[in-house]
Amino acid sequence: MSVATASSSVKTEIAGHFDVLVVGAGISGIDAAYHLKKDFPEKSFTVLETQGSFGGTWEFHKYPGIRSDSDLYTFGYKWKPWVDAPIASAPEILKYLNEAIDENALREHLRFQHQVKSASWSSEDKQWYLTVEQLETGEEIFFTCGFLWMCQGYYKFDGGYVPDWKGKETFKGDLIHPMEWKEDYDYADKEVIVIGSGAAAATIVPAMAGIAKHVTMLQRSPTYFSPGRNKNELADTLRDLDVPDEWTHEIVRRQVLKEGATITKLAFEQPEMLKEQLLNGVKSFLGEDYDVAKHFTPTYEPWRQRLAFVPDGDLFKGINAGDASMCTDNIESFNENGILLQSGKQLDADIIVSATGFKLCVLGDIEFSVDGKAVDFSKTTTYRGCMFSDVPNMAWVFGYFRASWTLRADLISELLCRMFGHMKEKGSTVVTPALREEDKNMASLPWIDPDNFNPGYMQRGLHKMPKQGDREPWIFTQDYDLEKTEFPAANPDDGSLLYT
Ligand SMILES: Cc1cc2nc3c(=O)[nH]c(=O)nc-3n(C[C@H](O)[C@H](O)[C@H](O)COP(=O)(O)OP(=O)(O)OC[C@H]3O[C@@H](n4cnc5c(N)ncnc54)[C@H](O)[C@@H]3O)c2cc1C
Repeated sequence: MSVATASSSVKTEIAGHFDVLVVGAGISGIDAAYHLKKDFPEKSFTVLETQGSFGGTWEFHKYPGIRSDSDLYTFGYKWKPWVDAPIASAPEILKYLNEAIDENALREHLRFQHQVKSASWSSEDKQWYLTVEQLETGEEIFFTCGFLWMCQGYYKFDGGYVPDWKGKETFKGDLIHPMEWKEDYDYADKEVIVIGSGAAAATIVPAMAGIAKHVTMLQRSPTYFSPGRNKNELADTLRDLDVPDEWTHEIVRRQVLKEGATITKLAFEQPEMLKEQLLNGVKSFLGEDYDVAKHFTPTYEPWRQRLAFVPDGDLFKGINAGDASMCTDNIESFNENGILLQSGKQLDADIIVSATGFKLCVLGDIEFSVDGKAVDFSKTTTYRGCMFSDVPNMAWVFGYFRASWTLRADLISELLCRMFGHMKEKGSTVVTPALREEDKNMASLPWIDPDNFNPGYMQRGLHKMPKQGDREPWIFTQDYDLEKTEFPAANPDDGSLLYT
């Protein structure tokens, strides 16, 4: 078939047309595929994925100890029971996703090594034109689709964030970001510094401790850690009673969500109490003589950044065993042997791991245009944190930070499938969020309120993100408790969605 693309009038071969095209085969993309297949078996769809396999984040990262920091009862899908310990390693998550794909016959819809480069909407043709690189051959191919379901995540996959430290290039050992980790990288008996204080650093340090000669976790400022057993007693009891897995999954989800909501409430209403509880948890592992005030007491209030769960206190066990230690200080400069700190202390190392976070990425850095005009997402207003004003037939799955990402992926899938059903009833094929007359002068607010949630990658990239308004449906609360009732009750005919 030869057709004219939206971006040029050149005759181009189209590799395929689909009612819905999903970008990314991570947790969100597989969720989208599941819902599409279940609710709209008559719709054609495909999932295009850059990597050579499914799993997204969990396929890509290979650093030591890589694991979830959310429990899999809520990080897993609503529609597929989790039957193991709550915190899972990347291979365990991939096994679960593989089963989800097989049980629902989704594999035939996945196309790997396909990287979407640009997406152009044509109002005349009522479809998207996608330019895609077939990475095996280097060939540029083209797809068209009615609806574009963006599940490409929120950070760049071509490298993490590494600050521009003075003298970085003079270090004669290896300086590695966790995103670049090769599975067979040998660090046995090496002196290691892990820079960072987030979940990645808290995972890497205990995993390397005992194998490396010594691991120092170097942080500018501490993070809140929440130690606990990697076990859910309620789940174990229900399993002992032969309660069906589906029931156990649902009951434990409710328990985890209730506990999460209680912690969030406490974080905003009684932060000092929550802070004391978290610090007591750390002290219970490290003892009263350890300098918890210096190394584990952040300056911000709990829950303004993601809480790092420490399963079975493994980070603290590494410290107690003398295999790992904490250093809270600022980097003055790198030198050939390691790092000079602002306190004047020198830390020597063979390997320095820069667990310093991500680079935020807006819609996969794909070039979007609508009727030939480039879309600047920072000028758009979000419809419920998943669609964007004046961008037709497109949604982005952006999950929760405080609760499991997948809870929101599931809610968005259900919302979109209800929207598709509504469009079918109306006989329309295009839906475009558009500000109503009464919304036109509303406040334009950041995607995420920086006072509410402020990790480094979000602070660095917030200006590129879409905006939210000050009223429904133009707000993005990041609050599962609100959205779990608001999304199913959303009125598709409140005037904020235009159908043609
Ligand atoms: C190390 C790590 C641990 C995390 N742990 C948790 C946790 O415990 N709990 C939690 O809730 N969240 C966690 N997160 C956040 C995490 O990213 C999400 O929870 C979830 O895995 C995101 O799934 P996703 O499918 O939306 O995106 P991703 O996992 O980012 O997958 C996106 C996929 O899209 C593909 N892609 C991107 N651009 C293109 C393109 N242009 N064309 C084709 N394909 C493309 C990518 O290759 C990738 O496979 C963690 C993140 C990281 C990095």
